[in-house]
Amino acid sequence: MWVTKRLKQDKKVHISFEISPPPFGKGRERAIEIFDQLMPFEPDFISITFHQEIVKHTPVGDSKFEQVIEKPKAGTIPLCALLEGKYGIPIVQHLLCGSFNREETAYALKEMAYVDLENVFALRGDPLIAQGQKQFIPEENGHHYASELIEQITLFNRGEHSLNGVRETVKTNFCIGAACYPEKHYESLNKEYDLSKLKQKVEKGVDYLITQMFYDNQAFLSFSEQAKEAGITIPIIPGLNPLVSQKDIYDLPRVFHINIPQRLVEMVENAKDDSEVKKASVEWLTQQGEELLKKGVPSLHFFTEGRTSKIRVVEEVYHRLFG
Ligand code: FAD
Repeated sequence: MWVTKRLKQDKKVHISFEISPPPFGKGRERAIEIFDQLMPFEPDFISITFHQEIVKHTPVGDSKFEQVIEKPKAGTIPLCALLEGKYGIPIVQHLLCGSFNREETAYALKEMAYVDLENVFALRGDPLIAQGQKQFIPEENGHHYASELIEQITLFNRGEHSLNGVRETVKTNFCIGAACYPEKHYESLNKEYDLSKLKQKVEKGVDYLITQMFYDNQAFLSFSEQAKEAGITIPIIPGLNPLVSQKDIYDLPRVFHINIPQRLVEMVENAKDDSEVKKASVEWLTQQGEELLKKGVPSLHFFTEGRTSKIRVVEEVYHRLFG
């Protein structure tokens, strides 16, 4: 079932989660364990992140190097299919421009369609800093921006896609989600510029948006208002992220380019240990959730990475919000 159809169902609030797939070397049991922890919240959907491949050059003597391509979290399409079949809720497969050219994207979409996965979250991906990339570099014949990937999926849906001269005539039925940034995407020149690019992306066929994490509701509320004024009328789902250690408040701005409000910084810096950080996080997220619901926001999306420590924080928040 499409995520957007689930969002239209009559419910007090729609809850959803993002998890990362188990790393290479860990079995599917880890994903099942995490799902078992998430199902009591009756989620409307769970999305599964995708991770770009890493190209490594290892020395093999004589000043020569062997190129090794690592896919640290491969195999997500069959995993999504397995989880959707087992749990009966929409599973959203993240798909990136990074690591894929147009043909590989077409094959991935084909594989998803074969196993009846209908929900795809289309993203560009970040520059691979560890590989020295200062800006995002698409694959040869790949996509530069998420909007191009979205256009390809939309053409697939219409049965108007061609591959190696062969026309894809079977229509698919993908519900397309995409990312947005209440505090602006870090590369964008300014908020207006970012919003105009978001509008272009939505017009390529996006059905709903999920925001980057934010800790100041005002950022989300004014962004939602500006998006509406710009003519973006699809659902915008707020992304909330539990904190589980003091290190988080220093890492998140660097990795995700977001602000941490000073009051939250003080709460976390005054915490004596991780358990006190989690308490502060529960308090903060509960207030965020309460205010968003009061303002009529109908859904909350929690980033968990599939970590039990983060799910425990969400559990506490959930009980405080809904009893
Ligand atoms: P885009 O929408 O392509 O935008 C990227 C930048 O380009 C923006 O600054 C935008 O303003 C600008 N831009 C867009 N179009 C144009 C244009 N035509 N001309 C000029 N500028 C333009 N990363 C992963 O690797 N795996 C994941 O699973 C993953 N999941 C995510 C889930 C969520 C909810 C979010 C918010 C992010 C996620 N990311 C993930 C991170 C994401 O890949 C990065 O934030 C990335 O830097 C941008 O991706 P995007 O799809 O928003 O890019």
